[in-house]
Amino acid sequence: MKITIDQDACIASGQCVLSSPKVFDQRDTDGIVVLLQDSPEAVLQENVHEAARICPAQAIELTLS
Ligand code: SF4
Repeated sequence: MKITIDQDACIASGQCVLSSPKVFDQRDTDGIVVLLQDSPEAVLQENVHEAARICPAQAIELTLS
């Protein structure tokens, strides 16, 4: 799995951080998503799928390998 985020699309809602706090964070200044790791280990991937699914801005793109 490879994760790509679109910081221009992100609306700082924070759902991804709640779902996958080891993979996503938010900038202190404006809450825009920050990617902590772009190739998470298998045990984290189910939550990353959930984060991508629930993101209201569709700002998380997953490439599956
Ligand atoms: S869930 Fe989507 S819109 Fe919300 S902070 Fe994460 S990337 Fe941004």
